[in-house]
Amino acid sequence: MEPILLLAHTEEDGRLAKPALEALGAAIGLGGELTVGLVGRDVQCGANQIAGSGARILAVTGAEFAEPRYATDAAAAEALCRAAGAAIVVAPATSRWARVLPGVAHRLGGRVDTHATRLAMENSVPTVTRWFYRQRMEAVLTRSQRPWIVLLEGGCAPAWDGSAGESACPTLVEAKVDTRTTIQGVHSPQAGQETIRPDAKLLFVAGAGWTKKQSDGGVHAADAEQLILGFLNASKASLGGSKSLVDLSGEGQAVLGFMTHLNQVGQTGSTPRHPKGLSTCCHGEEPHAVGWRFITERRAINLDANCGWARGKADVVYVADAFAVMRKVNELLGA
Ligand SMILES: Cc1cc2nc3c(=O)[nH]c(=O)nc-3n(C[C@H](O)[C@H](O)[C@H](O)COP(=O)(O)OP(=O)(O)OC[C@H]3O[C@@H](n4cnc5c(N)ncnc54)[C@H](O)[C@@H]3O)c2cc1C
Repeated sequence: MEPILLLAHTEEDGRLAKPALEALGAAIGLGGELTVGLVGRDVQCGANQIAGSGARILAVTGAEFAEPRYATDAAAAEALCRAAGAAIVVAPATSRWARVLPGVAHRLGGRVDTHATRLAMENSVPTVTRWFYRQRMEAVLTRSQRPWIVLLEGGCAPAWDGSAGESACPTLVEAKVDTRTTIQGVHSPQAGQETIRPDAKLLFVAGAGWTKKQSDGGVHAADAEQLILGFLNASKASLGGSKSLVDLSGEGQAVLGFMTHLNQVGQTGSTPRHPKGLSTCCHGEEPHAVGWRFITERRAINLDANCGWARGKADVVYVADAFAVMRKVNELLGA
């Protein structure tokens, strides 16, 4: 088996986050000689976390590698790839790595595959599985070019759960970098409360129906906000939205203030991975439902017995008023 490098960056607290441990688990599963390349201000804490993996650890450290920035991240990844001399480079598909690793592959004369959902050895050949055409077709790829960099999507592999310990000091690798970009701060696109929770057991999707005229002829956006937030707080579910709903919010209309384009699920939105999903006031049209590809058990509440969910896209459809159902659910949850 060819030598493997796992690239990981530490978080603000100096530790490795779950996506990095998932990528580590997948890299170990390939079975080759493993090197881990860490990037961060100080990586000793992250190195201790994975001491039990037995991997050789290289690191690029320093204040300039604490924050995500193209020039420094690309230089660090390139230096680690060269120092490790690995043929296969695995990294978690964090926004930080997704931004720089295609450029790094080019600098190294290698190739990159993004959005991988599985890494495996088949007949002693490393293979990568990924979806194409917005999750409609799945393909298994091999490549002859090296280094082959693979970005593994979050939530697709079990996180490595070996023992932590006292790791020897990682071998430091020098990454020469000259950048004019200074980081002055971070603006979060999401004002107010955090509603996207990738690790939640349940995805709760709100559709445009919450903002439509109801049977009494009125619009009840304030009620909708209260019901949805009450449910999210009590259940700790993650919040998704249909395109129609997030577009309304984006236009600054008086609808659900906590809903942004980051919540959008579907063909032009995200494809989250949760064991269960509950769709409310959302029609379940194909461009939306395609984003539910990886939701294992799907339920929907819609007034319309002929909605898209009822046509084979959900396991259970409650033909009911979502305002009434969620009010009762919240009552039962004590929200
Ligand atoms: C190229 C392209 C890409 C697209 N990408 C996406 C995408 O990524 N994501 C996405 O979501 N859409 C996407 N769309 C749009 C998609 O086709 C639909 O227009 C959109 O999903 C509709 O949103 P909705 O179901 O929330 O709203 P509507 O179609 O307006 O449906 C509202 C639903 O709420 C129900 N309802 C109303 N009141 C209640 C109540 N009290 N209780 C229960 N049910 C109620 C109604 O019966 C209705 O079914 C895309 C379209 C195109 C053309």
